[in-house]
Amino acid sequence: MSDAHPTPVAVIGAGVTGLTLAHLLDRQGLPVCVYEAQARLGGTMRTSREEGFLVEHGPNSAQETTPLLRQLFAGLGIDGQFEYAAPASKNRYVVRGGRLHAVPLGPTALLGTGLFSGRAKLRLLAEPFIGRANPDEDEDLAHFVERRLGREFLDYAIDPFVSGVFAGLPEKLSVRSAFPRLWELEQRYGSLIKGAILGARERRKRQEQSKQSAQSFSFREGLQALIDALARSLGDKVRTRAPLRGLRPEGAGFSLELEGQAPVRARAVVLTIPAYTYEGLEIGFDCAEARRALAQIYYPPVAVVFCGYRRNPLARPLNGFGFLVPRREQRQILGSLWNSSLFSGRAPEGGLALTVFVGGSRQPEHALWPEDRLMDAVAAELKDLLGLAPRPDLQRIFRWPRAIPQYQVGHRQLMGAVEDCEARHPGLYLGGNFRGGISVADCVKSAHALADRVAGALAG
Ligand SMILES: Cc1cc2nc3c(=O)[nH]c(=O)nc-3n(C[C@H](O)[C@H](O)[C@H](O)COP(=O)(O)OP(=O)(O)OC[C@H]3O[C@@H](n4cnc5c(N)ncnc54)[C@H](O)[C@@H]3O)c2cc1C
Repeated sequence: MSDAHPTPVAVIGAGVTGLTLAHLLDRQGLPVCVYEAQARLGGTMRTSREEGFLVEHGPNSAQETTPLLRQLFAGLGIDGQFEYAAPASKNRYVVRGGRLHAVPLGPTALLGTGLFSGRAKLRLLAEPFIGRANPDEDEDLAHFVERRLGREFLDYAIDPFVSGVFAGLPEKLSVRSAFPRLWELEQRYGSLIKGAILGARERRKRQEQSKQSAQSFSFREGLQALIDALARSLGDKVRTRAPLRGLRPEGAGFSLELEGQAPVRARAVVLTIPAYTYEGLEIGFDCAEARRALAQIYYPPVAVVFCGYRRNPLARPLNGFGFLVPRREQRQILGSLWNSSLFSGRAPEGGLALTVFVGGSRQPEHALWPEDRLMDAVAAELKDLLGLAPRPDLQRIFRWPRAIPQYQVGHRQLMGAVEDCEARHPGLYLGGNFRGGISVADCVKSAHALADRVAGALAG
């Protein structure tokens, strides 16, 4: 970018957050340039097509929790490739006693389910009468759920759910930071059950969807379609193999040191890189507190194991989203997602595609097992839980040594240090999935919020 051009806003990191943000700024007519360390774009979002299977390396689907998503897709011209998950995706399973139990979808199903004992169901009736927690206390999710809903609900609903979303542990995660809506329900309505009913009415007014009721979606060629469309829209405003190494103030903006390049000037800088990468940056201004805070965010490892079968070896189709495994069941995997039941074209006609997740905060060492051991463990669990005996025709392992940031107890203080750093250095913004939610939908929402802040500050 030469000085003949207006000094751009620099976006560091080309995951879904950085690319969406850059696209939004670009659309507002602001000069922008994205710098990405890797040769490819998308960060954790990546899809490949192999031997007739569609293989997701990271996220498999997203949830339509906000209308901003469809607006973005329409603007990018990829609405036609958009695909909701099949209606069968409502069927979700949790393992108990070595069997798959359907997650009850309503009060009648809850009464009949074998997933919870009669005592646990009765315990739910007490929920509306349990008082609020002190709003100043950063309670962990396990205490919150046990206090409000009882131990069994924690073990067989929340624990597997948390490993499905965060690959995390309920006793580590802060309810307020990791599940802010749950915390708000208690604070606002004094009860999750009352809040779920009243909150639904308010969301309808705002045209928003709760994470429980939002539909899952992807694109015909997988989530990478979003990354490809964002990349197309930005064209040569994205530089790959351009890792940021250093950053210092210069004039009214910043000077960026990028590996293998002459220093670049930027009027504002938005970092959308993982929290642990800040340690390696040379930063020429005081933000030691923020760096210390970011270094404390734990990212557990996860192994994603894709299993593709050209012919479905089961006598029945797998109809559902997949299953999750509570920690109490003491198994070697976190759960499995049934790709070919969710979206079209995930496996050749008559075939089967599923993805197994291993490791996370629960069993970090499992994610790092050698390939043979990992595949043996996955095969044993699939045989036991689904009766799926043959080895897959296509198996692929993707390891994420630092997969998902954990919003642990104390996360708000850490984010306070980040806010402080931004306040002291106008023009500097720290974003990405350690802030504002880890889901793809939350990343898109955060990108919108960041774009508004950057554009507002530059206009001001
Ligand atoms: C295994 C897995 C499964 C998931 N499943 C789901 C799911 O099913 N649904 C869902 O909604 N979410 C899911 N998520 C979460 C979601 O995918 C992520 O939170 C989201 O994609 C993060 O996007 P991001 O842009 O914030 O960060 P990232 O994707 O991490 O992108 C950051 C980018 O910054 C780059 N970078 C790093 N350092 C530098 C540097 N110094 N200079 C320049 N660039 C740099 C990186 O190379 C990377 O491209 C999953 C995540 C994982 C890991």
